[in-house]
Amino acid sequence: MKQEKLHFFTERLAAWFAGNHRPLPWKGEQDPYRIWLSEIILQQTRVEQGMPYFERFCREFPTVADLAAAPEDAIMKAWEGLGYYSRARNLHAAAKYVAYERGGVFPATYEGIRQLKGVGPYTAAAIASFAYGLPYAVVDGNVYRVLSRFGGIAEPIDSAGGKKTFAQLAQRALEVAPLPPGSYNQAIMDFGATHCKPKAPFCTDCPLSRECSAFQKGKVGLLPVKEKKIKRKKRFFHYLVANYGAEVLIHKRTGRDIWQNLYEFPLLEWPEAAASEEQIRRSAPWATLIGDRGAVVRQVSPPQQQALTHQQIQAVFWEVEVEGPPPAASELGPFIRAERKNLSKFAFPKIIDCYLGDNSLYLKLV
Ligand code: SF4
Repeated sequence: MKQEKLHFFTERLAAWFAGNHRPLPWKGEQDPYRIWLSEIILQQTRVEQGMPYFERFCREFPTVADLAAAPEDAIMKAWEGLGYYSRARNLHAAAKYVAYERGGVFPATYEGIRQLKGVGPYTAAAIASFAYGLPYAVVDGNVYRVLSRFGGIAEPIDSAGGKKTFAQLAQRALEVAPLPPGSYNQAIMDFGATHCKPKAPFCTDCPLSRECSAFQKGKVGLLPVKEKKIKRKKRFFHYLVANYGAEVLIHKRTGRDIWQNLYEFPLLEWPEAAASEEQIRRSAPWATLIGDRGAVVRQVSPPQQQALTHQQIQAVFWEVEVEGPPPAASELGPFIRAERKNLSKFAFPKIIDCYLGDNSLYLKLV
C-alpha cells in the first residue's frame, strides 16, 4: 500500500476514534496484570460475553499473587461457560510463573510477555502497547478485515504469506499513525468491531470510503479471503445421570481431549447419534456404576448441541433412578458422589450447564 494511502488511513481512523471509542472496563487500565487478564479473556470471545468474566476475575483474584495461589477448581469455576478452557489453565500457569519465578513482577518487554504461557504475538502486542506504550501492532480478526478491505488485499489471511503481509502492513500503519501505539491498536480494533463489521459494514457513512479499495470496486462482501474451511468432527455423547437418592456421580475430565479439568457425568461416547436403552444398559459405565441394582430410566433428553472450533458435540442425558446406595468408595474409580443441589459448585462444559439450567429437561429428584 502506498505511503499516502496509509497516512490517509491512519489520520481518518484517529479522527474516527476520537468520537467513537467504546467505553470498556479495561480501557485506560495501566495495570499489566488486568490488561493481560482482559486480553486472555477476550481471545475468541465477544466483548459483551467477556466483560462479566473480566469483572469477576478482578474481584475474585485482584492480584497476580491471588490468581497464582487459587486452587485450579476455583479458576475453572470462574471461567465456566467461556469456552476454550486451555486459556484458563495457561492463565493459572502464567500467574504462578510471574508470582513465584519473577517475584510478582510482570514482564515489561514484548519478548518477556511472549514467554507467558498462552500469550501469542497478538496478545503480546496488545499488552506491550496498552501497558507500556511499546510500538507493536496487533493483528486480530478485526485488523485483517479492515486492512484487507481498505487495501483491497485478497491474499488469504490464514496462509503463511497472508499473515506476513498483513502483519507488515499493520506495523507500517502503526508507525505512521498520529496516535500512541496503544490508542492506535485500540482504534483499529474498535473500528473493525463496530464500523467495518463482518456483515453490513457502514460503508456509506465511512470516513475511509473515498480510498477504500473494496468499497470503490464493489468487493466489500468478498474480503477478507480465507483459504481453509473448518471441518467439524461430529461426536455423540450419552451421559448417564445416575441418581442414587439425592446424589449423582460425576468425574473430572483428564487427558488431552476437550474440556480438560471440567466435570461431567459418566459418559458413553457412541459412534452414531442414536443409542437404545438396551445399549445404554449394556455399556461400561452402567455395568460399573449401576450393575445389578434395580434401575429405571426416568427421562431421556432430546439431543443437545454444542459447536466447538473443530468438533460438533451432540449429547443426550439419560436420567436413571437407581435403587440402593451408590457404589462404595473402592468401586468408584475416578467418580465422586455429589448432591444434586450442590452441582452448581462444580465447573461443567456449557452443554451440561445448559442441561442443568433447563427445568424442562432436568429431572427434579430429591
Ligand atoms: S468503506 Fe466499508 S469496507 Fe471500506 S473501510 Fe469503510 S466500512 Fe470498511
